[in-house]
Amino acid sequence: MKRPIFTVQKHQASRLHYDFRLEIGGLLASWAIPKGPSLDPAMKRLAVQVDDHDLEYADFEGVIEEGAYGAGPVLVWDSGWFEVDGSTVARRSPEAMLKAGTLDLVLHGKRLKGGFALMRMKGRPKQWLLIKRMDDEARPGSDITARCHTSVLSGRTIEDLQHEAASGKLAAYRCE
Ligand code: MN
Repeated sequence: MKRPIFTVQKHQASRLHYDFRLEIGGLLASWAIPKGPSLDPAMKRLAVQVDDHDLEYADFEGVIEEGAYGAGPVLVWDSGWFEVDGSTVARRSPEAMLKAGTLDLVLHGKRLKGGFALMRMKGRPKQWLLIKRMDDEARPGSDITARCHTSVLSGRTIEDLQHEAASGKLAAYRCE
């Protein structure tokens, strides 16, 4: 069976945020994380659920044009695949866990690895928290979004994309 993908897109819209996306049910279930993900289990990162995106959007990198929703540069900050954490008592499908509001994930990305919990806050249907599990991949005290600025696909930064767009030489990223 094909492994479900995840992606994190760093998006400099009117406000900087990181779009965390999981392939569930043939779409990308999506959350906007203002501070971005963390490898520090002490950091509970607010993740606001937003509209599902098409799978093809997972490796989009470029600049959303002025006037369009979310105008500004987008780069692929992390990508990989995920599975449901098999060590939890009741292993369920991602669809069921999404509906129930608790996703126990193991991420296999280039930057994000190991266990993560994504949990809906009580009484707040769109507001979730993304929290790193304490495991071998946890990095207490580290700040990965402060350390890692580049695209995992092209090595470009948000500033590189802005510069390319301003000079009319925006190179489209192609994965093949
Ligand atoms: Mn966004």
